[in-house]
Amino acid sequence: MHPDFEHSLTKYADLIIKVGLNLQPGQRLLISGPATSGGVSIEAAPLVRKVAEIAYRLGAPLVEVLWSDPAIIKQRFELAPGDSFGGFPVAPPYVTTTTIDRGDALLVITADDPDLLAGQDAARLSAAQRATAENMAGVSSRISSNKTNWCVAGAAVPAWGERVFPGLSGADAETQLWDAIFHICRIYSADPVAAWQAHLGRLAAWRETLNAKQYDALRLRGEGTDLTIGLPQGHRWASGAMNNAAGVPFTANLPTEEVFTLPDRVRVDGTVRATKPLSYGGALIDDFSVTFAGGRVVDYQARYGEELLSSLIETDEGAARLGEIALVPHSSPISQSGLMFYNTRFDENASSHIALGRAYKFSLDGGTSLSDDEFTARGGNLSRIHIDFMIGSETMDVDGLTADRRAEPLMRGGEWTFAS
Ligand code: ZN
Ligand code: ZN
Repeated sequence: MHPDFEHSLTKYADLIIKVGLNLQPGQRLLISGPATSGGVSIEAAPLVRKVAEIAYRLGAPLVEVLWSDPAIIKQRFELAPGDSFGGFPVAPPYVTTTTIDRGDALLVITADDPDLLAGQDAARLSAAQRATAENMAGVSSRISSNKTNWCVAGAAVPAWGERVFPGLSGADAETQLWDAIFHICRIYSADPVAAWQAHLGRLAAWRETLNAKQYDALRLRGEGTDLTIGLPQGHRWASGAMNNAAGVPFTANLPTEEVFTLPDRVRVDGTVRATKPLSYGGALIDDFSVTFAGGRVVDYQARYGEELLSSLIETDEGAARLGEIALVPHSSPISQSGLMFYNTRFDENASSHIALGRAYKFSLDGGTSLSDDEFTARGGNLSRIHIDFMIGSETMDVDGLTADRRAEPLMRGGEWTFAS
């Protein structure tokens, strides 16, 4: 390990606690994961321990950890009865919903090998993904209405590093991946917390510019893409810094480079081409495009993982509609790193993206107090899934369409047209 590794890891954990979670005095903390949705990978223990130490030093009364072992997840796929993949562990849904309802903070650490389940039986993968979506639905709905302050952050592990840096192996790959994560999360700046406050301020300025415009729709054009996305009246753009139900500000994703809002569930038309692979639940969907009419997916093709894409889209009625449109300039640090992380939380912040499935109620004016039916009536989408995939590139142009169908340029060649 690099001699400064300990120092950087401490700054990273500090950033997670102070900017990511904004852990409040007296607030308990639950640390969980994917891996894959059972809890945080045991391989991420050095970061988990560092975060716990800082939380306790700041006065946290209790840090609880849900652990998961990727090797045992793999054993299940290799050894468990073929018809048993609709089952799901008892602890994660129960512990996580109870924690959120208590008002504790939730940290999700992703430290997963993107290829953990590569080559496993597609029917088992779909059944397991469906079971995850069903069993974690209570967690997802609480998170997407920001019931508590929560944060998702990454931790490097050797297998993930080897995927990102194919020439390296073991500890070298892990070290290199940590270095990339630290760069992207601005950990090497003299004062990462201050650097993040400045960055979050920049994102908020873009967000407010778009909120003031209240466009009727966006039109996105790029290689293989010509997609018009209607925006409901009263849609709200959001960015990294959000508030939980009690008004506590927090940053749900580290890193975050996006501003995003609510697509109208019935006004999405055209074709969109993914610009990066989609890594989902340990498997990959790549080289794919999706066509929408009246908000619904009417056609799709994938060179890799078409069966998985198909099962995602068929999860439920809302899985065939959009729940998010996010704009990210091509000059973002993740994009500039030139790396493909095979982890949506990182890759989505390299690129403009859309999500199939559930929309965030907070992306509509007054949305968090609406019932599901009221939210749907105003254009919001509901689903058990929310799957982001990347569509931005250095050739993407985005126009804002006004109610009288004037087109105003928002992005050209992947960059904002207005000054940042
Ligand atoms: Zn997003
Ligand atoms: Zn998303």
